[in-house]
Amino acid sequence: VNEASARKIVRERADGRCEACCSSRDLEWSHRIARGRGGLWAPTNGLLLCRRDHAWAHAHPNHARALGWHVLTGDDPAAIPVWMQSIQFAWTAWFRLDDEGLVTWLTDDNEPEHLPEGMPRVSEAFA
Ligand SMILES: [Zn+2]
Repeated sequence: VNEASARKIVRERADGRCEACCSSRDLEWSHRIARGRGGLWAPTNGLLLCRRDHAWAHAHPNHARALGWHVLTGDDPAAIPVWMQSIQFAWTAWFRLDDEGLVTWLTDDNEPEHLPEGMPRVSEAFA
């Protein structure tokens, strides 16, 4: 998978909306493993985030890791669940990603223990 196809797959996966807050404005690719740490251009390694949520993730790396938005160097992003909204499920939950752009819903009854301050609630975005 190259950058262009990874971007296309993730944009389609997200239906052109931020995978945190559903905004369709100022969207950016966010690497789960940064390129500088060996992260690949692969749909499992990317989230489509709005500029605000992307900046939030960089400003709150521990929270971002707890949500699966950031993945430790050497871990497999396909194996690490992500707390995100999925347009395919119209739902915020833990999902696992694959490189074809599919998302697997893991569970909806297991929110992160402490939703970080400032993190958008997708349920509100859909309300
Ligand atoms: Zn957002």
